[in-house]
Amino acid sequence: MNKTQFNIKQLVRKNVLGLNPYSSARDEYVSDGSEMIFLDANENPFDNGVNRYPDPQQRNLKTVLAQQKRVSEQNILLGNGSDEVLDLLFRAFCEPKVDNIITLPPTYGMYNVLANINTIENREVFLTENFEPNVDKIINTVNSNTKIIFLCSPNNPTGNSFSEENITKVLNQFDGLVVIDEAYIDFSDKESWIKKITTYPNLIVTQTLSKAYGLAGIRLGICYASKEIIAILNKIKPPYNVNELTQRRALERVINQDQVKAEVADILKERKKLIATLSLIRFVEIVYETDANFILAKVDDANKRYDQLLHKGIVIRNRSTQPLCKNTLRFTVGTPEENNKLIEILEQL
Ligand SMILES: *Cc1c(COP(=O)(O)O)cnc(C)c1O
Repeated sequence: MNKTQFNIKQLVRKNVLGLNPYSSARDEYVSDGSEMIFLDANENPFDNGVNRYPDPQQRNLKTVLAQQKRVSEQNILLGNGSDEVLDLLFRAFCEPKVDNIITLPPTYGMYNVLANINTIENREVFLTENFEPNVDKIINTVNSNTKIIFLCSPNNPTGNSFSEENITKVLNQFDGLVVIDEAYIDFSDKESWIKKITTYPNLIVTQTLSKAYGLAGIRLGICYASKEIIAILNKIKPPYNVNELTQRRALERVINQDQVKAEVADILKERKKLIATLSLIRFVEIVYETDANFILAKVDDANKRYDQLLHKGIVIRNRSTQPLCKNTLRFTVGTPEENNKLIEILEQL
């Protein structure tokens, strides 16, 4: 990607480029803090805490995230989970039945689902045997309609982070957008790519409060990118896509970094314990390295072991149908009590 030549307008769908977004009441009048009477949005006036529409730009939450990640608020878009953020990327940049994306299986299933929903061809380039991007093959798969390459790092379900060298090559050699999905970054000792959004105008980093932050139930996904990319996404997002309860709960949690860090530390300690135990189980053949809050393991017979654990009341994920994942099981790290129970049962099998 040639930085000086990069022009995001060439990647945006024509209809999005010319679009006039819906202007909500809460967009038009921005409060300066003084006491006003709000008769502009047809809300019920009686205060119950949530009778007013939420801030469409989620300013309080963005202010804190911008400080923590050392970016501008204009580099941030928030969505109803990363799933909405990813869908907005398809809808902004990928012309149905014309454009294509590249994904690297085995990886997160949502990229393919969203490609199907948006009628976008998904060109799959499998990871190498050691679960790294096959950069030459990726670049050979690109054509003039390839809009986005999705890199999931740390990758779900394999757990590893991709090498900095391989990610840099993709960023440099591809003229379209590169999305790095960092859903599991808080469990990794590798640095986030957020700080590189100023270096690479084609870089988009997504994160979520669903994993390390323990807020899967409130649905809050985060997108970091150039302000030009964020402005385009803002044009097409539903005006009130992040509800008031979610904004409040997310704010409380991101301010409370000590609690999040303490829980992540506990999960990492448990992960270490689980890896050590799994390595000693007779029917476990490989325990893959992980930078996430889950462990992928190759076993003798994944279907059999999955059923046995289910029968004992433990639900894990059988990833055997995924490419390069024959006879693999994915274990999410639980509480110490849950993990001890798992270990006890594994040792009995
Ligand atoms: C769990 C997960 C997400 C989270 O999606 P949300 O919609 O934010 O809950 C995103 N990407 C990957 C790779 C995941 O595994």
